[in-house]
Amino acid sequence: MKELAAIAEKIRNGDRRALSRAITLVESLRSDHRQQALDLLAACGTGRQALRIGLSGTPGVGKSTFIESFGLFLVRQGLRVAVLAVDPSSSRSGGSILGDKTRMALLSREPHAFIRPSPSQTQLGGVARRTRDAVHLCEAAGFDVILIETVGVGQSETMVAQMSDLFLLLLAPAGGDELQGVKRGIMEIADLILVNKADGDLRAQAQRTCADYSGALRLLRKRPQDPEGFPKALLVSAIEEQGLEAVWGEIQALADWRREKGIWETTRKAQALHWFSEEVRSQLLEELVRDPNLATVLAQEEGAVARGEAAPAQAAAKIVRQFIESNNA
Ligand code: GDP
Repeated sequence: MKELAAIAEKIRNGDRRALSRAITLVESLRSDHRQQALDLLAACGTGRQALRIGLSGTPGVGKSTFIESFGLFLVRQGLRVAVLAVDPSSSRSGGSILGDKTRMALLSREPHAFIRPSPSQTQLGGVARRTRDAVHLCEAAGFDVILIETVGVGQSETMVAQMSDLFLLLLAPAGGDELQGVKRGIMEIADLILVNKADGDLRAQAQRTCADYSGALRLLRKRPQDPEGFPKALLVSAIEEQGLEAVWGEIQALADWRREKGIWETTRKAQALHWFSEEVRSQLLEELVRDPNLATVLAQEEGAVARGEAAPAQAAAKIVRQFIESNNA
C-alpha cells in the first residue's frame, strides 16, 4: 500500500515511467493486479481535468500524421499532450492498425508528450475499460490534452466518443459520390470534421469535399450541445502543418461555450454514469462466469441454447436465478 502511494505521487508529479507502468497494471488481466490497479486509481485522485479529444478516421486518412503535427503544435503552445489509442483490430487478431512503434516519431521524443498504443485484449469492451483507466491516470499526471485515437470502424467510435469531451473525424479528399461512405451515425457524433491532405494536387479536391460535408452537416438535426455554426468542417494539411491553429481555435471556442452553458459538466456526469453502469454489468458478468457453483449449469444451458432446446432469455433467467441463490446460500 505504501508503495502504491509512492507510485501515485510520482504519477501526480508527471513521471512518465511511473505513468507507463501504471497503465500496464490497469491493462493486466490478472485479478490480483486488478485490485492493485483499482487502489492505484483511487490513490491518484480525481482532482484534475484534461481536455479529452476523441479522433477517428479510416486507415490512411492521416491520423498518425495529424496527431504528430497537432501534438507538436500543442506542445509548442506549452501544453502537455497524451495520446491513447483504441484499436479494435488488435483485440480481434493480435495485429494492429494503430499500434506501430514508428508512428509519431517526433512527438514521442518530446518530454511533454506521452504516447501509448492500444491495449490488446480479446474484447473491445475490455479495451474500452482499460482506456478509461488510462485517461484517468493521464489526467492525474497533469496532461492538458488527451487525444484518444480510434479507427473508423463501428463500435469503437461510439465508445471513444463516450469518453471524450470533443470528437474529431478525420477524412481524406474524396470524389463527390463518396459522401455516402461516411456513416450518418459517425457524422452525428462528430464536433469537427477535418478534411486532411488539403495540399498540392489534392487541395482543390479537399476544398470540394469540405464544402460537401459543410452542406451535409447543415442538414443534420441541431444538437443541444452545439453553439451556432457547429458541428463544422475544416481543411487541414497534417504534412504541411496547415490549419492546425484554426482547429485548436475551434476546439477551444466549442469547449469554452460548453463550459459556460454547463453542458461540459452535464456531459461528463452522464459519461461517468454510463461507465458506472457498464462496469456494474461487466463486473457482475465476470463474477457470474467465475462462480464455481455455476460452471456445470452454465455449460448445460449453453448447450441447450445451442441445440435450440431453450430460449436464450429463458436460459439466462435460470442462470441469474441460480447465481443469486448460490450467493445467498
Ligand atoms: P493513418 O493510417 O490514418 O494513421 O494515416 P497516416 O498518418 O499513416 O497517413 C497515411 C498516408 O497519408 C501517409 O502516406 C501519409 O504521408 C499521407 N498523409 C498524411 N497526412 C497527409 C497530408 O496532410 N497531406 C498529404 N498529401 N498526405 C498526407
